[in-house]
Amino acid sequence: MNNNVGWQFDNSYAQLPEFLYAPLNPVAVRAPHVAILNDALADSLGLALNSLSEQDAALLFAGNILPDGAKPLAQAYAGHQFGNFTILGDGRAILLGEHLTPTGERFDIQLKGSGQTPFSRQGDGRAALAPMLREYIISEAMHALNIPTTRSLAVVTTGESVRRETPLPGAILTRIAASHIRVGTFEYLVRTGNIDGIKLLADHVIQRHYPDLSTTDNPYLALLNRVIDRQASLVAKWLLVGFVHGVMNTDNMTISGETIDYGPCAFIDTYDLNTVFSSIDHQGRYRYGKQPDAAQWNLARFAETLLPLIHPSQEKAIVLAEQAIHAFPNIFQNYWLMGMRKKLGLFTEEAEDQQLIDTLLDWMQQHQVDYTNGFRELASTSIPNDDKYADAAFIEWHTHWQARLSRQPESLELSLRLMLANNPAIIPRNHRVEEALTAASEQGDYSPMHQLLAAVTDPYTEQTHFNEYRTPPPPSAHIYQTFCGT
Ligand code: AMP
Ligand code: MG
Repeated sequence: MNNNVGWQFDNSYAQLPEFLYAPLNPVAVRAPHVAILNDALADSLGLALNSLSEQDAALLFAGNILPDGAKPLAQAYAGHQFGNFTILGDGRAILLGEHLTPTGERFDIQLKGSGQTPFSRQGDGRAALAPMLREYIISEAMHALNIPTTRSLAVVTTGESVRRETPLPGAILTRIAASHIRVGTFEYLVRTGNIDGIKLLADHVIQRHYPDLSTTDNPYLALLNRVIDRQASLVAKWLLVGFVHGVMNTDNMTISGETIDYGPCAFIDTYDLNTVFSSIDHQGRYRYGKQPDAAQWNLARFAETLLPLIHPSQEKAIVLAEQAIHAFPNIFQNYWLMGMRKKLGLFTEEAEDQQLIDTLLDWMQQHQVDYTNGFRELASTSIPNDDKYADAAFIEWHTHWQARLSRQPESLELSLRLMLANNPAIIPRNHRVEEALTAASEQGDYSPMHQLLAAVTDPYTEQTHFNEYRTPPPPSAHIYQTFCGT
């Protein structure tokens, strides 16, 4: 089989010392079949997947056949899970290597669900179809919402079943990432006492993700500041679209600033800062409105790993790291406010903007307004046409907002355009995602998933034929719950 569809592997991680990983091939599966291929992503990576037969594509994305130039490995890492330190590692994933696109961008190509590794602990190394399709849908939706994220190139079924509460069809997801280096990768080296390793990894990360930092006075402090900045920006973007990651453990926080690990994540419908979807997040540690705090906590764990590199005096290193971490809330707030201004069509800045926004959000929470539809409906020249807006408190807010808009030099038309580009019409709503997953994984019917994908990957365009995807779920006693990494 000729599987050279344009792979250009250049495996820099595999050149790092082996304490960072275990060289290992994926475990072949019995009868792989393509469930879905992401042709647009393949194109942008410079991969001509259409030159492959379905069968060859299935063998390739199952890991039964390795692309030329791959150097497979499972990465070692640790992490704080819900606050508790654990040694983890790729227990069900294999990094095939790093592919260079025709424009010279570097991406990890990883198979998830590819069999046991030395890091599998009690796990079977496998994944079920529905959660892999879920990751595919939500990661592609996030990308379309202009949010940095890992992406999904393919899902193949394995022809094997995985044992969960019931037997389920097995599948493998091909995940594309700027890298899979996590806060937990650094924590792993600290726990094994490998200070030289930390420097090596930090240098690798700087060279790979933030080369402009290498010439700064203190590149490691600059690295900490940059990762703080990337994560503050990322989490602000999550809040702005109503995304709840659900499992913000330090092993699920990338150094590149991409969203990773679509386990129990979900989007809010009605606006409520206390929204929790994950069945295992009993304390609400990772609830919607708590995500900035969770990010700051994780970044403090990252800062700790860098202390010996930041300054030879531990005392001074701690002062510098603390300064950096304490800056997080402000950096986050600035990104969030910047994003909220865009959602409200504001080009200029006024001191009272925060209050204007808070008043609207409070009103939304009180009246259980759908967050996505509420903001989208505001992008109109008059008070939106719906009963809930015939409310004195809302009308008063609307008057303030209109006055605020009129104080900026930009036209109302430009404001509306700004709003439409920053308030999605369509998000992957939980009931729609579930419906698509059930059809695909239980009936082998992929048409609802393709329809949903078409809708969520063009979220800002007004398209009446996608209007059904804008309807919130019917009110019900059943509270939507998500389940982790299965
Ligand atoms: P996650 O909750 O997806 O972030 O996974 C946490 C850890 O559990 C990671 O080290 C995974 O590799 C590992 N893991 C999750 N599912 C499995 C599985 N089925 N077999 C082996 N390891 C797993
Ligand atoms: Mg994970």
